[in-house]
Amino acid sequence: MIKVYHRCGGCGKKQEFINSGKFRINANGNRVDVWLIYRCKKCKHSWNLTIYERKKPSKINKEEYKLFMENDYELASKYGNDIDFLKRNNAEIKS
Ligand SMILES: [Zn+2]
Repeated sequence: MIKVYHRCGGCGKKQEFINSGKFRINANGNRVDVWLIYRCKKCKHSWNLTIYERKKPSKINKEEYKLFMENDYELASKYGNDIDFLKRNNAEIKS
């Protein structure tokens, strides 16, 4: 798993964040947001990394959506090793 660093709102300084393996889904009308939750290694403050933002449900792969709902570990690991995804979320990366 790639090591991810980010400024922690809890500690007030840069910390290592750990992939929680949990997704958060917010369905609002006909738009869906999906995040992967990371937690500060030190204080457990959460940081949500955006996977989908205001996306039409019909545009989301049904199998993948099911895995988000189930907090699928492998899918969380896949995103946790996806450098483009991490960079889009302004994560600082050390492999
Ligand atoms: Zn912290």
